[in-house]
Amino acid sequence: MGSKRYIEVAVNLPVFRTYTYLVPERLSRETTAGKRVAVPFGRRLETGYVLGEASLIDGCQIKAVEQVIDNTPLFPPSMTELFRWVADYYIHPIGETISAALPSGKLPVRDMDRPVAAGKIAAGDIPPELTTEQRAVVDDVVARLGSGFYPCLLAGVTGSGKTEIYMQIAGEVVRSGGTALVLVPEISLISQSEKRFVARFGDDVAVLHSGLTRTERWRNWMRILRGDAHVVIGTRSAVFAPLDSPGVIIVDEEHDTSYKQESGLRYNACDLAVVRAKLSGSVVMLGSATPSVQSLYNAKIKKFRKIYTLRRRINQMELPSIKVVDLRKREPRRGARALIGEELYTAMKETLEQGNQVMLFLNRRGFASLPVCASCGNTMKCSRCDITLTLHRRANAYRCHFCGFSLPATACCDNCGSSSIKQLGIGTEKVEEAVRQLFPDAVVARLDRDTTTRKGSMARILKDIEARRTDILVGTQMIAKGHDFPGITLIGVICADLSLNFPDFRAGERTFQLLAQVAGRAGRGMDPGRVVMQTYNPEHFSIVAATQQDIDSFYEREIAVRRQLRYPPFSRMVHLHISSTDFTKARERAREAGEACMALKDSEKEMFGAIEVLGPVEAPIYKLSNRYRWQILLKSSAASPLKSFVRRLLEESGARLKRGGVRLVVDVDPFFMM
Ligand code: ADP
Ligand code: ZN
Ligand code: ZN
Repeated sequence: MGSKRYIEVAVNLPVFRTYTYLVPERLSRETTAGKRVAVPFGRRLETGYVLGEASLIDGCQIKAVEQVIDNTPLFPPSMTELFRWVADYYIHPIGETISAALPSGKLPVRDMDRPVAAGKIAAGDIPPELTTEQRAVVDDVVARLGSGFYPCLLAGVTGSGKTEIYMQIAGEVVRSGGTALVLVPEISLISQSEKRFVARFGDDVAVLHSGLTRTERWRNWMRILRGDAHVVIGTRSAVFAPLDSPGVIIVDEEHDTSYKQESGLRYNACDLAVVRAKLSGSVVMLGSATPSVQSLYNAKIKKFRKIYTLRRRINQMELPSIKVVDLRKREPRRGARALIGEELYTAMKETLEQGNQVMLFLNRRGFASLPVCASCGNTMKCSRCDITLTLHRRANAYRCHFCGFSLPATACCDNCGSSSIKQLGIGTEKVEEAVRQLFPDAVVARLDRDTTTRKGSMARILKDIEARRTDILVGTQMIAKGHDFPGITLIGVICADLSLNFPDFRAGERTFQLLAQVAGRAGRGMDPGRVVMQTYNPEHFSIVAATQQDIDSFYEREIAVRRQLRYPPFSRMVHLHISSTDFTKARERAREAGEACMALKDSEKEMFGAIEVLGPVEAPIYKLSNRYRWQILLKSSAASPLKSFVRRLLEESGARLKRGGVRLVVDVDPFFMM
């Protein structure tokens, strides 16, 4: 009889610790780290992930593994450390953390060995000669490869050749036998980046994003795990790609909010990219034309080792000239011209006459976002959310943009029954209609979440623009992201202010980034391009800085505000959401949660005294999908007491606060504060 063997298992249940199990002789060979096992837990069999070997703690009753589920491990053993870090930092159960990191659903049994595409894809594309600016960055970063953690920031105006830099660094890593992980924002960008990487690296590329089927995702996952693909490109969840130790991690458009997961495990993939690089001792490069305030700050305080700046566009293209139109000074006009003012109208006419293309941006979809009853003044609201409904004319329905609730467009006022509803407020659909009226001969297309629900529809819209079949494109922030269309020489911003008044400390930052990115879409071809920006706040520093593409002056103003109000990066925040379908329960439990916070603060003044407890208050959107929502914001100058505080709160009061189906959600480093 040899000595007994024990393993550490992360059970896929809402428990924060891991458990030790005995490996029976019959399963000894097949029990390895990274596989799933069935283990007795309480009175049931549960699934768990094998993290590694464990030693027996005396006096414990140890149960034995019942069954080994997988033939091969689902992640390399080196990733265990990352999972532990994530579970600890985001105060999330470790088993559920791993489960959230893996592709969803069961690993399909058959088919896994077939290559993803039929036949080999040739890596044909020849890298261009780098510009002096690009060369300097690539050389400097390549020199750091393989010698430990090196976090850096690449700030380069749109079109300055950042993607080419990513590809050359990745190429260098692959040539020396390593792997590269590249993260890009949500779906609208993935197709373009994917195309460029595949053209360069052929079938050495694996792709991970939400547009894949479950089987495709698992198949790519296993290819990465087996070492068949050395370059991984993907959206948020790809930060968990099963690479053993990536030589370089790149985050493109690092400021993009789609890196933040807003349900389940609420992680930030951009932050995790840095953490992962630190754990594996590799280079991590965050790139953007408009880096986040947090990242610029990290570069200033040398948490990031270097900030590389690209000031010139490839081919010496000029940045577009930007004309600001003050909407307050405009004469009131009706109909189509109420949306498109004199300057923008003239510029559109000129652009079309020259045979070029126009892009119009408005950060809200639908036709009318504020339907108001003409007889009693009541606004049409979602019956499940505290949100006004948006009329969608093409769909002939009112829709709630949060929960999907829908009413026919013929619906009457739910207060007085009147059928006379005024359609106030604007959306991309209304802009599209106005454009069709003003330019009846132009080919108009719209790109937003409503026109891209069907698979392939986005690709078709983009293709029509590329081939210049479309004259005018109307769209939401979907058009703001990295598309590269040389024919577009005019960008119109219908109303620059929509994101400015959100109850969120990042509203100014978002507005700046969005407008600067939109403006950067102009003049990607030989023409320098121009931008007409309509706004009610022409003096607001976010808008002024965006029109001048001046990130430094934006940063200086914004960081001063953050410092004064003690917002991140000068503090850490944890958001507690308390919600219930029962109005009274939500309110009562929020009150109890607030009291529990204060009691905990008082009980350990030394450790927790400096933590600010703001709330409980009703959430700005107090009802969402039939749930009444309350929130408590915890603020602290240091991360670690804050984390201990939340952990203690959950341990001591979690079960009590959640009784009767009340939901208590912890959001560390929150983004969406509504
Ligand atoms: P960014 O990612 O900063 O927006 P890109 O890498 O997409 O910039 O580059 C903009 C355009 O310039 C692309 O069409 C790209 O193929 C091209 N490009 C990039 N680097 C070079 C280079 N060194 N020589 C020629 N063309 C380049
Ligand atoms: Zn009414
Ligand atoms: Zn709703």
